[in-house]
Amino acid sequence: IENNFSYPLTELNDIFFSVKTTKIYHASRLDVIFRTWFILARDQTFFFTDGDDSFYQAKTNGHLINTNCSSSHNRKALCCKMSVEFDTFLESGKKWFCHFDDDNYVNVPRLVKLLQMYNPQEDWYLGKPSIRAPLEILNREKNSRQKIAFWFATGGAGFCISRALALKMMPFASGGKFISISEKIRLPDDVTMGYIIEFLLKKKLTVVHQFHSHLEPMKIMKPENYQDQVRILFNFFSCCHLPRMLKYLNCKHVLYFNILVI
Ligand code: UDP
Ligand code: MN
Repeated sequence: IENNFSYPLTELNDIFFSVKTTKIYHASRLDVIFRTWFILARDQTFFFTDGDDSFYQAKTNGHLINTNCSSSHNRKALCCKMSVEFDTFLESGKKWFCHFDDDNYVNVPRLVKLLQMYNPQEDWYLGKPSIRAPLEILNREKNSRQKIAFWFATGGAGFCISRALALKMMPFASGGKFISISEKIRLPDDVTMGYIIEFLLKKKLTVVHQFHSHLEPMKIMKPENYQDQVRILFNFFSCCHLPRMLKYLNCKHVLYFNILVI
């Protein structure tokens, strides 16, 4: 695409949509994704799970990846999945790594437009924190009692990392090193991302408010009419709790809207 920017504009195919899931959620959560945003990003979306499932393997056209990580909700299991997500993105050669949970709704066309504002050959960490101040922890790097503070993007709201930044993260995050770092700081996968990017690499999180997580109140999600629904969907790049959202919104509208803006 020709443009006024000094870099090539991101297209849908430049994005690696990475969805974390677990075997017991395939039937409930993946089905909802298949009926909504997946239709717009079939070839670009990969699901990272913890068991073999030939039925969903076929439905995703072979994009259901068994990480062989444990199927529990503990830090180690979740970091193990994130580590495989990251490595698979690196192998894909794509320009953007965008992580989501399996209960996220992703506004695919809007996300493409958002990423077009940033050069993937520069370092970008785009997402939204769910805390009001940077997270403070004790620096375990040097056995000191010194405190460090950093921001992280909430995983459940979705976040994106440019290829340039991902390459710089490799010494800390690729080939299982992500798991070792999370073990050292004893914090969850999304926090570990923030630690690697903000503290170890000294790159800043760019806050994008349209990434929404389940930690935000759902009352804004109660639109009365179709115009409100369109407005809400238009403003979101991602939103939490797709099953709950579909209770409020007409499922047909969610899809219809996506197709409208392409
Ligand atoms: N998840 C997982 N293993 C589990 C439980 C959950 O990988 O044992 C994944 C789940 O598929 C989702 C994310 O972790 O992508 C967050 O899970 P959930 O939405 O159930 O919990 P939340 O943290 O949002 O309350
Ligand atoms: Mn959730």
